[in-house]
Amino acid sequence: MTHQTSATTRKDSSMIKMIGVIGAGQMGNGIAHICAMSGFNVKILDAAEPQLAKALATISKNLDRQIAKGKLTEADKAAGLARISTGTQYSLFSDCDLVIEAATENEVVKKQIFAQLCPVLKPEALIASNTSSISITRLGASTDRPSQFMGMHFMNPVPVMQLVELIRGIATGEDTFAIVKDLVARMKKTSVSAEDFPAFIVNRILLPMINEAVYTLYEGVGSVESIDNAMKLGANHPMGPLELADFIGLDVCLSVMQVLHDGLADTKYRPCPLLVKYVEAGWLGRKTGRGFYDYTGEKPLPTR
Ligand code: NAD
Repeated sequence: MTHQTSATTRKDSSMIKMIGVIGAGQMGNGIAHICAMSGFNVKILDAAEPQLAKALATISKNLDRQIAKGKLTEADKAAGLARISTGTQYSLFSDCDLVIEAATENEVVKKQIFAQLCPVLKPEALIASNTSSISITRLGASTDRPSQFMGMHFMNPVPVMQLVELIRGIATGEDTFAIVKDLVARMKKTSVSAEDFPAFIVNRILLPMINEAVYTLYEGVGSVESIDNAMKLGANHPMGPLELADFIGLDVCLSVMQVLHDGLADTKYRPCPLLVKYVEAGWLGRKTGRGFYDYTGEKPLPTR
């Protein structure tokens, strides 16, 4: 599919001044961090109020790390934090030019969020979803502005990772795409464009590898440590696949595999039963203190 835009009509991101972020979890706090440090005013909303304080504390801690590395000053940190406000009511977003949705990876939840968001938004405001795998076309169709809706898929941890995948739904307007692409450049990140197929590019390739690592564990081919060391030292991956799965969140991993399995109807995407069991047990990785490793001690310990 080709998308033609004349250079003379192409929009830039100068209309974006106030950015809303929905979901204050690991991705939401990272997105708010990068938006604030790129000079934008940011408003974060979460259904769970304690998540908001937690997100602000995480952003502050991550900024301290950047200060310790000499990348930022205390004054930069104070100015960045001063640009962020939080709340639990959608009216928060009435003056936003763009709202980035980064709530739980569940289509029903996301559609309920858009139903509450759209009535309070300015007509010209854009909406982006950070979904890892759900159809941008379907999410966009559930809003009152499919042409002003697109996928903006940040990588975890957002302040560190260079890439943002940009995904057009079938109805996404070229202006919307151009504005968001320019915005990503202003955040000093690199974008790649992906078409709206299940899990886009990065997760279409990465998650089946992680799922295969869980099968390798499930079938007893190797222990957690053997599998991770094998891929770190044998394939030069900076993290082992099971360590990475814990980092992403096992619920997110499972949900992406389910989307691939349902969306592409190919048994090669069948989620490993062990991954399903871990999620059922609430062992979701780092965020719950246990996944393929136990994080409750000083050092992560393999659990198998
Ligand atoms: P998370 O579990 O850390 O955070 C999700 C947040 O959404 C929580 O704070 C939760 O309280 C909030 N939430 C849930 N329902 C809500 C609602 N109805 N209204 C407002 N807030 C609500 O999850 P995460 O890892 O930050 O993932 C968020 C999104 O980012 C998902 O779509 C995920 O697929 C995507 N994503 C995740 C990663 C990753 O590595 N974890 C990477 C890229 C994209």
